[in-house]
Amino acid sequence: MSVTIVGAGVGGLTAALSLHAAGQSDVRVLEAARELRDVGVGINLPPHAVRELTELGLGDALDKFGVPTKELAYYDPAGKLIWAEPRGLEAGYKWPQYSIHRGTLQRLLADVVRQRLGENAIHVGQRVTGVTQDQGGAMSIAAIDLATEQPASFTADVVIAADGIRSPVRNGFYGAPIPLASNGWVMYRGVTKSGPFLSGRSMVIIGDETQRIVVYPIAEGLLNWLLVRPKDPAAGQSELGNWNASIPTDVTAAFVKDYRFDWLDVHQLVASASEAYEYPMADIDPLPRWVFGRCALLGDAAHAMYPFGSNGASQAILDARVLAYELANAASIDSGLQAYEEHRRPAVSEVQLANRRQAGDVMARVSALARSGAHGDAATELQDVERRYKQLAGFDVDALNNRKSWSISRAS
Ligand SMILES: Cc1cc2nc3c(=O)[nH]c(=O)nc-3n(C[C@H](O)[C@H](O)[C@H](O)COP(=O)(O)OP(=O)(O)OC[C@H]3O[C@@H](n4cnc5c(N)ncnc54)[C@H](O)[C@@H]3O)c2cc1C
Repeated sequence: MSVTIVGAGVGGLTAALSLHAAGQSDVRVLEAARELRDVGVGINLPPHAVRELTELGLGDALDKFGVPTKELAYYDPAGKLIWAEPRGLEAGYKWPQYSIHRGTLQRLLADVVRQRLGENAIHVGQRVTGVTQDQGGAMSIAAIDLATEQPASFTADVVIAADGIRSPVRNGFYGAPIPLASNGWVMYRGVTKSGPFLSGRSMVIIGDETQRIVVYPIAEGLLNWLLVRPKDPAAGQSELGNWNASIPTDVTAAFVKDYRFDWLDVHQLVASASEAYEYPMADIDPLPRWVFGRCALLGDAAHAMYPFGSNGASQAILDARVLAYELANAASIDSGLQAYEEHRRPAVSEVQLANRRQAGDVMARVSALARSGAHGDAATELQDVERRYKQLAGFDVDALNNRKSWSISRAS
């Protein structure tokens, strides 16, 4: 079986490794970018994603390049602790939780894809424009070769569309662009060279329903921060789905001028960032269908979600592993793809909707309690929300520790 994956993001590259591990050797990845650069800032990989990457043999590399997150703590805008819980191994999982630069993770995955599937397995500079299926079931992929600006074409038995939130392949099957939804909030993201704070491996969320900032280390001497707040109406329109819009750090620092605590000077951290970006919150409504003939959507193309709960990249990683597992276990390609959609689509749709709720009413309730001095009630609320979210997203500690593996035994 030949497989062409569109998109060399975290989802597409993990799909290539998962298919290879499940016994598929004819796998190629088409990527629009002319080269894979370290773009983006930090992301978090909870234990359900780390389990899958570990079972693909990347555990040591994650440990080398990532920071094992030890705790998650919520603070009110005055810097007073509302609630904290252990994370990763400290919380009883068999696998750690890691914070890591998105670019580092992508490069790591790409290096391993080239080692295992061949130096030429990733074709950069190929911008896919459409995918069609012929009468006999074979898939044709149309692309533009950006080196020559000439059309290029590829064929495969199966296509995996892992081409991100604005997925041209998905939009082609739906007959029109799937609209990106936004709640009018903006995410300001950046990294700053800085010494450790709190445990040195803490992830903190500070703020209330009007704005909040998430801070965590992603490497030694490097802190990642992410501020979410409503878009300033005077600031003009930003492009939904564009991850690369830079922003001057003084604009962002002004939003957190009062966040100066003896355990972390957030204002200083944001003001001295080496890079900062603006990303309007965007997701898509849960889709009614992920599989079109022998093409399956995966990752953000299938389920772009608000970045709450550290699950955008994680759910893409889970998709990749389940897709390879279901294809390996099915009697036919078509039944394998259907099994993948049945396994993943209902579950991830719930995560998309939960992330919308996290963005809105959850913080409003928690903040109202904290403001009235009821920190204990706010803590109970947060604990309950986190517990339910873990069940939904697939990282309830007991369920994850005891779930059977999605690895395929080579002997079978
Ligand atoms: C530049 C960038 C920066 C990001 N930064 C962050 C961040 O800082 N924090 C965060 O939480 N999330 C970030 N994300 C999103 C995060 O990586 C995803 O939510 C998550 O990893 C799921 O990944 P994915 O592989 O489904 O999609 P993506 O990571 O978006 O990868 C999609 C890939 O498909 C490629 N592609 C798109 N169109 C085509 C085409 N027509 N033909 C061929 N290839 C195509 C893209 O170039 C990209 O490499 C970023 C995404 C991108 C693309």
